[in-house]
Amino acid sequence: MQKQYDVIIIGAGCAGMTAAIYLKRANLNVVMLEKNAPGGQINRTDRIENYPGFTSIDGPTLAMNMFMQTQSLGIEYRYGDVINITDKKDYKIVTTDTEELTSKAVIIASGRSPRELGLPNEKSLTGRGISWCAICDGPLFKNKDVVIVGGGNSAVQESLYLANICNKVTIIHRRKEFTADQEAQNKVLKNKKIKIHYETEVVKINEHNDKLSSIIIRDKKDKQHTIKTDGLFIYIGFQPVTNMVKELNITDSNNYILTDENMKTSISGIYACGDVIKKELYQITTAIGEAAKAAMSAKKDIE
Ligand SMILES: Cc1cc2nc3c(=O)[nH]c(=O)nc-3n(C[C@H](O)[C@H](O)[C@H](O)COP(=O)(O)OP(=O)(O)OC[C@H]3O[C@@H](n4cnc5c(N)ncnc54)[C@H](O)[C@@H]3O)c2cc1C
Repeated sequence: MQKQYDVIIIGAGCAGMTAAIYLKRANLNVVMLEKNAPGGQINRTDRIENYPGFTSIDGPTLAMNMFMQTQSLGIEYRYGDVINITDKKDYKIVTTDTEELTSKAVIIASGRSPRELGLPNEKSLTGRGISWCAICDGPLFKNKDVVIVGGGNSAVQESLYLANICNKVTIIHRRKEFTADQEAQNKVLKNKKIKIHYETEVVKINEHNDKLSSIIIRDKKDKQHTIKTDGLFIYIGFQPVTNMVKELNITDSNNYILTDENMKTSISGIYACGDVIKKELYQITTAIGEAAKAAMSAKKDIE
C-alpha cells in the first residue's frame, strides 16, 4: 500500500530540512526524501562565514546540526531518488526509484548540481583525478599540484581550501576577472601557492593509466599549453535538479522552477524553494527563508 503524508519534501538540503522543521512543528505528517546524504551542497563547503549565528563554521558540521534538529523533532527521513511527481489535483503521487508515496502537498527542494565542462573523458575520470568537491576529495591531493576551473564564489573559496592542503593550486578562469566576493578574491590574490590564468579555457583532459595526467589550456591569443596536474576541480556553475518535474511544465527555459512570492508553483499543492527555483541570490539564508514560506503556504492550503 502507498504511504500517505500531508507533505512530501524532495531533498534534504538546508531548504528541505527547514521546510520539514516548520511543518513538523505545525503538527503535519511530513517526510523528507533524499538520494544522498542530508545537507546537500553545504556538505561541499569548507567555510561558511555569512550565515548568522556562526562567525565561521564548516559546511558538514552545519549540515549535521540541521539534520540533528530534524531528528530531534522526529521528522521522517527516507532514502529515495525521486524520479517523478504526478498531480492528481487533490493529491500527489511521488515516485522514487524504490517506491510510490502520496501526499496532499509536495515541496520541491532538490537544489542544484555542478555543471560539466563537456569534455570527452570528464565523466570517466571523475574519481580518478577529476573532482566536483574540494572538501570531500581535497585531502587525497595532499602536497600535490591541482587545478581549479572557474572564477565565481565556489571556485575562489575552494581554491583557498585546497591551497592549505596542496603543493600548488592553479586557477583557470575564462574571464578577465573573478566574479567572486571581493574579500575572497583578495585572499586568493595574496596567496603565494595560488597561480591564476585569466581569459583561458580548458580544451582537453589527458589521462595516463586510467588517471588524470594533464590538461591542455587555450589562452586568449589562441595558444595552447599543457599543465601537468594530479587533480582537476571543476566549479563552473550549476544546473537545477528538475528532471522529476519535466512533465509538470513549471520550469523556465533554463529548467529552474518558477514560483510566486509564497513559493507556490502554477500547480495547486506543489511548492518549491531553495536553489532549484529561479531567483537572484543562491545562498543558505535565502534558501531557508523560502523554505519557511513554502512550508507555511502548504500548511495554509492543506487547512
Ligand atoms: C562550494 C560551495 C560553497 C558555498 N558557499 C556558501 C556560503 O559560504 N554561504 C552561503 O550562504 N551559501 C553558500 N553556497 C550555496 C549554498 O550551499 C546553497 O545555496 C544551498 O545549500 C542551497 O540549498 P538547497 O537546500 O536549496 O539545495 P541543495 O543544497 O542542493 O540540496 C538539495 C538536496 O536535494 C537532494 N536531491 C536532489 N534531487 C533529488 C531527487 N531526485 N530525489 C531525492 N533527493 C534529491 C540532493 O541530494 C540535495 O541533498 C555554497 C555552495 C557551494 C557549492
